[in-house]
Amino acid sequence: MTSSNLGDRDRLVAEHDRALHDHAALVARGLSLDLTRGKPSARQLDLSEALLALPGEGDHTAADGTDCRNYGGLQGLPELREIFSGPLQVPAAQLVVGGNSSLAMMHDTVVQALLSRLPGAERRWVDEPRVAFLCPVPGYDRHFALCERFGIELIPVPMTPEGPDMDVVERLVREDAQVKGIWCVPKYSNPDGVCYSDETVRRLAAMPTAAPDFRVFWDNAYAVHHLADSPVEIADILELCAENGNPDRVFVFGSTSKITLAGAGVAFFGSSPANVAWLIGNAAKQTIGPDKINQLRHVRFLKDAEGLAAHMRRHRDLIRPKFDAVIRILDKELGGTGLASWSDPAGGYFISLDVPEGCAREVVRKAAEAGIALTPAGATHPYGDDPLDRTIRVAPTYPDLEELELAIEGLAVCVRLVATARLME
Ligand code: PLP
Repeated sequence: MTSSNLGDRDRLVAEHDRALHDHAALVARGLSLDLTRGKPSARQLDLSEALLALPGEGDHTAADGTDCRNYGGLQGLPELREIFSGPLQVPAAQLVVGGNSSLAMMHDTVVQALLSRLPGAERRWVDEPRVAFLCPVPGYDRHFALCERFGIELIPVPMTPEGPDMDVVERLVREDAQVKGIWCVPKYSNPDGVCYSDETVRRLAAMPTAAPDFRVFWDNAYAVHHLADSPVEIADILELCAENGNPDRVFVFGSTSKITLAGAGVAFFGSSPANVAWLIGNAAKQTIGPDKINQLRHVRFLKDAEGLAAHMRRHRDLIRPKFDAVIRILDKELGGTGLASWSDPAGGYFISLDVPEGCAREVVRKAAEAGIALTPAGATHPYGDDPLDRTIRVAPTYPDLEELELAIEGLAVCVRLVATARLME
């Protein structure tokens, strides 16, 4: 954004003076507010309190007779896979249940691909001269950090309202055989809430790639995290990959971190039969079996897909007022000024705030001066570098409503302060 709607210079100067005054008053309040990470609030965690007493003494037998207290069952309980099969768009037979973190499963999948040949690969990724991943931006900082740790090169791809810019993606995967993966958060994406269009999903599934072992890392972290009354449905990538002759192309991930207990949920991996066999074969060297008691506890608690949907509506009742408050305050304080634009997501955990180019770091610094902690500017981009220094990620779920309102009002003051200063330069 290069121009504001604040009209002539006198008006701009007056606006800046007002922002200076408001910021000084904000600093004087000595606030201590945190908008950094997208964590569920304590009230959201309370929704799953009953889990702590489940499955309960004497209840340890799964539907197929498995004694959940014992070793074994690497793929996870079939009845739990059934519950998540629809939401994650993976047949239950092709789903694997992991530990409590999908990020850990993504990490381990990358490590396994580095160390053991993927179906269709010519060699292990560690034996490649170079491994690169495409990263739609803005995106999720932990995806980027995971790749950086293993020396995987990160190539930014611009996001559009329909998902990553597919013209760019198709060209890069066609031209460069070292591009081995792409990170995708296809529904209510982190941080801008974008949902991939059917056409984007189809092109990802069908595009020719120079690498025979190219994989789409489909992190469907917000598959059931709807805020709007009508849930968004996205196209079935696993099926589309198979239909287009690329059955092994996609790795689907998900978890109950923001459904039940963020620290004690269950995670999922879904893919083609060949990829599932590859993953389980490797996992068998790592563990004799997962925590099936936790899996059983989740089955008892959620019961079925309808139980899961009803539970998510209870989350929505708690968090929608928070998202509404952020949008209302941004509209009131910044609407029509041309100083910022923001997403109004239909689900997920984040709002993405775009300020004029070159202002994001300074807004975050000014907010910190006033005791408002924001995710570092740049975190939404590979290597922590937002070349336009423009995107700020806002995470509304964790603070209570009153704190959130104070924090967003304060953030709006910082945007006015920094953006008007920039426009006066
Ligand atoms: N994927 C995305 C897109 C996320 O936003 C998050 C958490 O914020 C995670 C994964 C972490 O998932 P988990 O708790 O299952 O490791």
